[in-house]
Amino acid sequence: MITAAEIKEKYVRNHPSPFCPGCGGGMVLNAMSRAVERSDVEKEDIVAVSGIGCAAWIPSPHWRVDTLHTTHGRAIPFASGVKIANRDLEVMVVSGDGDCAGIGGNHLLHGARNNIDLNVLMVNNGLYAMTGGQVAPTTEHGERTLTTPHGNPASSFEVAEVVKAAGASHVARWTTYHMKELIAEVEKAMETDGFSFIEIMTQCPTRKGKKQGMDGIDMLAWYKENTSKDKESDKMFVGTLCDVEKPELVGSIYRQIDELGGV
Ligand code: SF4
Repeated sequence: MITAAEIKEKYVRNHPSPFCPGCGGGMVLNAMSRAVERSDVEKEDIVAVSGIGCAAWIPSPHWRVDTLHTTHGRAIPFASGVKIANRDLEVMVVSGDGDCAGIGGNHLLHGARNNIDLNVLMVNNGLYAMTGGQVAPTTEHGERTLTTPHGNPASSFEVAEVVKAAGASHVARWTTYHMKELIAEVEKAMETDGFSFIEIMTQCPTRKGKKQGMDGIDMLAWYKENTSKDKESDKMFVGTLCDVEKPELVGSIYRQIDELGGV
């Protein structure tokens, strides 16, 4: 079995870490690397696309694959272009909740509707962390952030449920507490021929934890106590929300091209 040091050597570039102590960003990088190691995909065939925010730094420049660091909220359209240009590539999108569901929410909906063969990992820390901890669409009602010091007057929305309703083939939710399950889910996403979306609840001790009097370990313990693999439980569900076969966009485009005699 490959060791942690070997995973780091093989998959992580030797840059100083941009993450605060206790951040979940490095854990997501670890899970992605281990999933690729377990899969039959070569890292030379992976392109990782990210937008703007702390989560965008997870692949770029740290992951030792080809990376494309794009503009705020636009990772999915850039990734779609990569996939349409070369359908043999395994295209991963790593995006924070503000980037993916806020600024880029419309692209997320249509990526799911088109069921384009991307693997989208939405790293959800519940706010805009890199710019100071502003309220995001994923911030819970009543939660205090930099811009909602008296509590969020709005409600959050269930992004994974929205993506499922929009038409994605594969949707799941895990947390950084569930590393074993998360690694298996990323591997499953890579095997899926269609839009795969994994919401990864991730601790941000700096912008979120400090407001709640919690450090990174406390936040992991919170995930342990407040999540359940039982859909009937009152706790936050973690696991696979849907896994269905349906037409995929890029395959359909190339089939039409073939039927029309090529380009
Ligand atoms: S601000 Fe939060 S999400 Fe960003 S690197 Fe620090 S702990 Fe991680």
